[in-house]
Amino acid sequence: MERRDFLRTGLVTAGGVAAGAAGVAKVSSSAEAKAAAAGPGAATLALTADGELVVAPARNGATAVPTSAEARRGVPGRRWVMVIDLASCDGCGECTQVCAKSHFVPGDREYIRLFKMRESADTAPYWFPRPCFHCDNPPCTRVCPVGATFKREDGIVLIDNERCIGCRFCMAACPYSARSFNWSRPDNPTAAVTRGYSPEWGYPRRVGTAEKCDFCADMARDKQLPHCVAKCSMGAMWFGDENEDAVTNAKGDTVRLTTLLRDRAGFRYMEELGTKPRVYYLPAANRRSAAPGEPGANTGNLQRRGDQR
Ligand code: SF4
Ligand code: SF4
Repeated sequence: MERRDFLRTGLVTAGGVAAGAAGVAKVSSSAEAKAAAAGPGAATLALTADGELVVAPARNGATAVPTSAEARRGVPGRRWVMVIDLASCDGCGECTQVCAKSHFVPGDREYIRLFKMRESADTAPYWFPRPCFHCDNPPCTRVCPVGATFKREDGIVLIDNERCIGCRFCMAACPYSARSFNWSRPDNPTAAVTRGYSPEWGYPRRVGTAEKCDFCADMARDKQLPHCVAKCSMGAMWFGDENEDAVTNAKGDTVRLTTLLRDRAGFRYMEELGTKPRVYYLPAANRRSAAPGEPGANTGNLQRRGDQR
């Protein structure tokens, strides 16, 4: 069953389910009971195309599904930007894990991959988190034959899986290998289905489509930090608006973007490619934690993807 077909039936909330769903399909009284037991507003009932009701936790405060035009335009007046402080990253992998959880990312991929980097045998290694860079000159969007992947006014690069035809040109064009592909029919959890699809969050997934880090475009629209930035207990990830010249980390510190980049010698990965990433890095000088492999060093999420480091 495709997502479009599924969503045709729409949603009803716990409070109004009995009247709304009665007569439409075989209503599950146990599902109603579960939703009612969860309390008003705590659960949502979704009517599947098979005519069954399933219970999903309500996403209190979740962003309403933006229109297609809104999702393609972005938040007016904003230019979202991310800064990753390699001196502060201790390789714990919290960013990768919370990203996977909040986007229902299947276990065979990661939107933020954590690499162990080393410039030479004489220098200490360091951790290097790599999301999609939301390039200002993105080779991925130029090769898409159907306009499924696009660059917004606010700087975010997204994929619309309702348009994606699965050609994977974008994957070949991205020099950072930031994209993944849904080779088989995804096992979308109920919570992913009930929210409704938007390119701003990318789920529920569809077989034969590309996907990647979306900078948590829905969170930005809600004036919240992306999940990875909010979860980074080291305060190593910053997010903000280039137009306001301000970025904020999980510790609640807000600094001027230009000052941070100037004072800490900020750089962009593989700048020479001309892709103009919207993710800046601060060098791993004077690290605040042990280098990978040193006594007391974090192992990141090596146990999940030991092949990439
Ligand atoms: S990192 Fe890759 S997928 Fe992301 S915007 Fe740049 S070229 Fe496109
Ligand atoms: S895989 Fe989808 S998003 Fe990527 S280039 Fe092809 S149609 Fe466009």
